Amino acid sequence: MNQLRREPLLGRWIAVLEHSLKPDEYAFSSETSSGTCHICQGGGGNEEVEVLYDADGNWIVKVVRDSISVFAPYGDLGRKGKGMYDLMNSYGETELVIESPEHDVPPEDRGREHMALIIDLFLRRVTELEKDEKIRYVMVHKNYGLPSGDTSGHPHSLITATPVIPMRIKAELDGAKHYYGYKERCIFCDILREELRLSERVIMDTEHYLVFCPFAARFPFEFWILPKRHNCSFKEINEDEKNDLATVMTVMLKRLRKVLGNPPYNYVLHTAPSRIPRMEHWHTLGEDFHWHIEVMPRIKRLTGFELGSGMYILSTSPEDASKYLKEVSDGD
Ligand SMILES: [Zn+2]
Ligand SMILES: [Zn+2]
Ligand SMILES: [Zn+2]
Repeated sequence: MNQLRREPLLGRWIAVLEHSLKPDEYAFSSETSSGTCHICQGGGGNEEVEVLYDADGNWIVKVVRDSISVFAPYGDLGRKGKGMYDLMNSYGETELVIESPEHDVPPEDRGREHMALIIDLFLRRVTELEKDEKIRYVMVHKNYGLPSGDTSGHPHSLITATPVIPMRIKAELDGAKHYYGYKERCIFCDILREELRLSERVIMDTEHYLVFCPFAARFPFEFWILPKRHNCSFKEINEDEKNDLATVMTVMLKRLRKVLGNPPYNYVLHTAPSRIPRMEHWHTLGEDFHWHIEVMPRIKRLTGFELGSGMYILSTSPEDASKYLKEVSDGD
């Protein structure tokens, strides 16, 4: 029988089909626009923020300001009401982390040290962007392949700073607080323990991370990377955890590509907001929230039912998806 599952953090119900689709039963394309890549063309005149070079003086990773971003770091917030509605200026910033000088060589193919450099940059840029007092949230994310929103096709990730806490983050903070309110435990630490105990959705279990397909995921083959040490903020990651994360990211992005055949995907890094408004409301945030990375393959289009109901249909069960991702070999 097909099954309905309730996701414990947000309370969202999803449907899992009884017969899982195999990886090759999905039809998708990772193609981006066929035109010339604006990053290879020199970055479209975007201002450079930070550039890392190899021993020969060639750049290997670059952070630039995204000049066509929705958000711009000028002026004030301009909060105002218009009748019953609220509006404000799109104050903020988007930075592009160009993860490779070569259009066809993604960071996971450049090795663990390269991935560690990128994670280091995430840390430095998030810390820097959060210094702006008007910024409420900074989110690291990645779009790969056209269905994910990527148009350049060049390996890159993005760091977006917004003057508000986005709804999805707020929902997670509220869900975590609610759970903590009656169990006095972090929901993510509980999920970690439960997934380790059951082991049926675990893909990787390293010294510092658990990688698993969530019990009630939204997307087939979705997986989470959850640090084993409780901490609400990615910024508190230590050197060992950073190196381990570089390994996990390298291995998992390669496995995803191998199992599904170069699928489009998004990933997002969820961490605590820098400055916490309504401190009284979120006063337990340090104990109840736990940073993590969500990786969402975009191999299936959403239906009207999914959009209208928020109830996603999972055409491959998390148990089956984790097996494919666990059992695939890491060799080339
Ligand atoms: Zn390019
Ligand atoms: Zn925790
Ligand atoms: Zn999350």
